[in-house]
Amino acid sequence: MIIDFRSDTVTKPSLGMLEAMMKAPVGDDVFGEDPSINELENWVAGMFGMEAALFCPSGTMTNQIAIKCHTQPGDEVICDETSHIYQYEGGGIAFNSSASVKLLKGDLGRITAEQVLVSIQPDDPHRPHTSLVSLENTSNRGGGSCYDFNEIKKIQAVCREKGLAFHLDGARLWNALVAKKENPRQYGEVFDSISVCLSKSLGCPVGSLLLGRKDFIKKARRVRKVFGGGMRQAGFLAAAGIYALQNNIERLAEDHAHSKQIAEAISKKDFVKMILPVETNIIIFELKEGRSAPDLVAVLKEENILGYAISPSRVRLVVHLDITKVMVSKTITAFQSLK
Ligand SMILES: *Cc1c(COP(=O)(O)O)cnc(C)c1O
Repeated sequence: MIIDFRSDTVTKPSLGMLEAMMKAPVGDDVFGEDPSINELENWVAGMFGMEAALFCPSGTMTNQIAIKCHTQPGDEVICDETSHIYQYEGGGIAFNSSASVKLLKGDLGRITAEQVLVSIQPDDPHRPHTSLVSLENTSNRGGGSCYDFNEIKKIQAVCREKGLAFHLDGARLWNALVAKKENPRQYGEVFDSISVCLSKSLGCPVGSLLLGRKDFIKKARRVRKVFGGGMRQAGFLAAAGIYALQNNIERLAEDHAHSKQIAEAISKKDFVKMILPVETNIIIFELKEGRSAPDLVAVLKEENILGYAISPSRVRLVVHLDITKVMVSKTITAFQSLK
């Protein structure tokens, strides 16, 4: 038995999901004729109280389309320095949008309204033109940390006052909604665009959605075609998404409980210097001097436990729906006997 904590993207479609996929009615989505995709887009837009949605192959694509739609070449995007849009999308902000970035030092990936306010460039021809603020909730490199919704509202007020677009990279927003007992509509009310993933916590093989107003999604649909993301009978994938929305959201609470149990065992180890607060399904811990993260990952691998060294001294474990209770206890036992 391999216990794979490398990412929540390693899940395989369940039998129920596969059955839903096999039965999906499909059509050519570039012509807008795929009933399953139309149903998924309408459903998720409705959940968030937003006007429209666009199904895309990845969260990188939904984020990059949003950035492209909200900016002009030479504009500046404000985000946390650890943001996925900046660190892990292949330099896409520059590559796709010819835009510049203002990186802020947030608290576990979370930035504040005050930081945003003082980072907006003055109206001066020497300076880039600030046009977009992008948040990440939960924050991946922040160890799955969640925003306080009041801070999000404060940042939105700054954006509105200064005429900036406001985007959310909600790859794991489902985890935040469950952990903080929030309603998706709260998010739909404050953001101009939201990206959510189906292929992470929800266990789908493929797929992300970009949400926004009708005119924004119309523009986004054009950019998706330019980026090569117009798919044809992709309703088979949308059906997996519909199944996941029906079956896999509430159960995220189990993943969060599992990660807290594992984190507790890890925090007792002598070789652990510190562990980031565990709010959702991600565990990030730092090793004491003299211990190497790749070495620890190799030792765990001998026990068939897979993790990921995100730096020379930090290890990340991600809990997901293919991690069973038995796997959690095996992992805890393995950590207990580690020297
Ligand atoms: C995984 C992830 C994405 C999107 O990744 P894809 O692999 O392109 O779907 C975006 N943002 C965050 C924070 C992520 O963790």
